Amino acid sequence: MNFLLPLTGSFAQPAGENPTVAMIEAAFAHHGLDWRYINVEVAPEHLGDAVRGARAMGWRGFNCSIPHKVAVIAHLDGLGQSAEIIGAVNTIVRQGDRLIGENTDGRGFVTALREVVDPSGKSVVLFGAGGAARAVAVEIALAGAARIALVNRSIARGQEVVDLLNTRTPTQASFVPWEGPFVVPPDTDIVIHATSVGLYPDIDAMPDIDTDSLTPKMVVADGIHNPPLTRLLKAAQARGCRTVDGLGMLVQQGVIGIKYWTGVDADPQVMRQALLALDL
Ligand code: NDP
Repeated sequence: MNFLLPLTGSFAQPAGENPTVAMIEAAFAHHGLDWRYINVEVAPEHLGDAVRGARAMGWRGFNCSIPHKVAVIAHLDGLGQSAEIIGAVNTIVRQGDRLIGENTDGRGFVTALREVVDPSGKSVVLFGAGGAARAVAVEIALAGAARIALVNRSIARGQEVVDLLNTRTPTQASFVPWEGPFVVPPDTDIVIHATSVGLYPDIDAMPDIDTDSLTPKMVVADGIHNPPLTRLLKAAQARGCRTVDGLGMLVQQGVIGIKYWTGVDADPQVMRQALLALDL
């Protein structure tokens, strides 16, 4: 017998509402991996100690969520390509004695999106310029999106992401200030909502988008995972659009993380079912 189990986990604050542990441990169990994923609440002033602790205890890797995604970089030994461009890390991978930071939020999103549409060559409207939107924007651009119109309330934050896209990726990005109901241009292929509007408990909140401008040829994706069927996605489905929900993004970033840590291709359906069983 070997009673020394490989450890992974998550550092965040608050951590109590983070459902990641349920889907990761469901995948570990399904694939016969006797690993553990420990959900830990870490205050910002203790982040360095927490990372040194994970190092000392030989953790195989861990996730970082709010508010640690940028601050953790100072405690790591290197970054993956897209994490370096995005400037934020949500998955840490141990390679020998080194801790490498990766960003799987955007890649998870693109994997979920590809089940419905390939973003290569497409015209995209993206709402938001926070951490999630930044990761999604970079990965959509690296996946070959032809054009990205980034719509955000704060001009400075939006313009910063657009500048990043135009200098570090091949896409053509433009900024549109979000003033009043946004009319989606008819030549748009993919509409992505990546703000926090509509997140539990404000589930009746609706991003200020003129849903009459959505057409059946558009794919509409929402980053909100709780609830999975947001008001925006309901409106898009009523207009005949194909949709991608935020659970897809959450599950697929977990699949990428498990692959980094264990080498195993985890079954996304098992992980999605584990999240749905929580009745988010
Ligand atoms: P941030 O706080 O970094 O960014 C919030 C974004 O929402 C900003 O663009 C902000 O605009 C915008 N926003 C907030 N309130 C409003 C409003 N009333 N009207 C218009 N815009 C608004 O958050 P994150 O980027 O980290 O997270 C955003 C969402 O993505 C969260 O709901 C999170 O749960 C979800 N997410 C989902 C993941 C998944 O796996 N499904 C992974 C990561 C995040 P402004 O700049 O003007 O303030």
